[in-house]
Amino acid sequence: MRKDYILKVRYLAQNLGHAVLNPQKDWENKWLGDLEDGEACPGCHTSLMIAKPGRNYVECAVCGRKGYLSLDKDGNIKYAWPEDNRNRLTMMGKFDHVREIERHTAERYEPHKEEIQDEMKRYRQMEQFTVKAPSKQK
Ligand SMILES: [Zn+2]
Repeated sequence: MRKDYILKVRYLAQNLGHAVLNPQKDWENKWLGDLEDGEACPGCHTSLMIAKPGRNYVECAVCGRKGYLSLDKDGNIKYAWPEDNRNRLTMMGKFDHVREIERHTAERYEPHKEEIQDEMKRYRQMEQFTVKAPSKQK
């Protein structure tokens, strides 16, 4: 068994309890954990990044912050993390993210709205494949 994991979970639980018992404090963007080697994002501390060709930045897969890439003198990747209010772990970032999802959903589905509603009707009429729950069979 990894005792370091047990200690990490205990510390996490203590921090969570402390935050719940102290709602008057501003916990937004507060990191109480270790700073491990290899972590990249200063917001959520994950190292899981989305990199796409043609960009000079990566995007954190968890919170969406942008980190700009450069290479040090040995050719190793370095990140620069400017303040980013699109961080999905902040309230402003959450609002932004919801609007982003709404915009992408509308772009994708709005042109096909009538077609989708027709398909919905067709599927709802397929009662031969529907099994009612025993409680609804009265
Ligand atoms: Zn992040």
